[in-house]
Amino acid sequence: MHQTFKMDSVGPTMSGGLIQFPNPAETFSFLGPGQFNHTTYLNKYFSHITDLGQAANIIHETLHAFFISKFNAAIGDSAKMRELAEVYGGVYSEAFDTTWLASVARSSTYQHDLIITNYLAAFSQALYEFGVARGMGGWLTRALCKDLAYWGTWDSDMFAALPSTDKKRIQERFALELDPSGALGLGMPQPPYFNPWGTPCP
Ligand SMILES: [Zn+2]
Repeated sequence: MHQTFKMDSVGPTMSGGLIQFPNPAETFSFLGPGQFNHTTYLNKYFSHITDLGQAANIIHETLHAFFISKFNAAIGDSAKMRELAEVYGGVYSEAFDTTWLASVARSSTYQHDLIITNYLAAFSQALYEFGVARGMGGWLTRALCKDLAYWGTWDSDMFAALPSTDKKRIQERFALELDPSGALGLGMPQPPYFNPWGTPCP
């Protein structure tokens, strides 16, 4: 898998997801055998995103690229497809259908459910280790890292099923790390706290 990162000015008019935020990043990939090149555009509009927020943003996008690479690598190989179906979960009899797997690979919503069901622990752990390496170890909590691992999954069934207090806290945390000063004023509820946990980019 080869992933390229670029900055891109998407701007505030592009909305999506539950909270109608402009997307902080997007990854462009192709479905098909031998397609392992992915380009991730980071939204320059959020230039003051915190280091912790950008780490979550990058991990989230890398998981999208990873899912599609796994699918592309399995095309034409029934054993690999079978393994993929097991990793992707779902009802086995349906999940062995390549068409179903292709729909997973195409749909960011399905992939967001996968991130929550299969990768939340690894995502949280990676963020935690990043924070410790950045010197946040004294006050960084695993609970915070877990909240940030939900980054951008608002359209998923798994996120929708969370208690409303959890959803609110997670989205406020997302907003704080994405827009630490609140200067972009993108319609998020005002958090009950004022400081992001990560360090805003200068
Ligand atoms: Zn996503």
